[in-house]
Amino acid sequence: MKEQRNGLLLVISGPSGVGKGTLVKALMERNQRIKMSVSATTRAPRPGEIEGVHYFFKTEEEFKAMVDRGEFLEYIHVFGSKYYDGYDVILEIDVQGAMKVKQAFPDAVLMFITAPSMSEIKSRLIGRGTETMEQVEKRFATAFEEIKMIPQYDYVIINDVVDVAVHHMEAILEAERCRTSRSNYLSESIEDTGR
Ligand code: ADP
Repeated sequence: MKEQRNGLLLVISGPSGVGKGTLVKALMERNQRIKMSVSATTRAPRPGEIEGVHYFFKTEEEFKAMVDRGEFLEYIHVFGSKYYDGYDVILEIDVQGAMKVKQAFPDAVLMFITAPSMSEIKSRLIGRGTETMEQVEKRFATAFEEIKMIPQYDYVIINDVVDVAVHHMEAILEAERCRTSRSNYLSESIEDTGR
């Protein structure tokens, strides 16, 4: 019997500066069957980031209009079909978006990424050097709101050492692939007459 399974839909959120991008990049380098869904952001592109490859860069107004029109969920549905082809798909989105995806795709795996402490989040934001001090303060204030959503997620990853955090993500994906709810073993075996 050949076991068939859909890919996993992995939703990643967490405060700005905790290392989401760093972890996703490392995870994808080590796992060829994981694809990244391109999502939209209101922040400015960083050096080397390409429109439509890394993100769709939108103004606050454009972003709000897209949300109001329900375009994100529609897009996720289209992209989500890829994970039925056996690819694992990563969606990096904010906490509100993550809750909507969970409603639309109840079998999605939600991971919240954070850093060992709030002060570490701040130093990483400053260390990255991509934002003004005012933007850093704004993102840092938002971080306190975001971490309150941790109980709504399936897993929390504390990104202290990158390799260890990536290993935790891989272990979660391995375990999720073995969930009984994702297996067709029973239904296939009932059909199997042994000849
Ligand atoms: P995010 O995508 O969550 O906004 P980034 O991946 O851009 O975060 O990381 C923010 C900054 O923190 C970057 O300068 C990155 O190199 C650094 N960083 C990421 N992970 C770690 C870690 N485990 N320890 C120390 N610094 C890290």
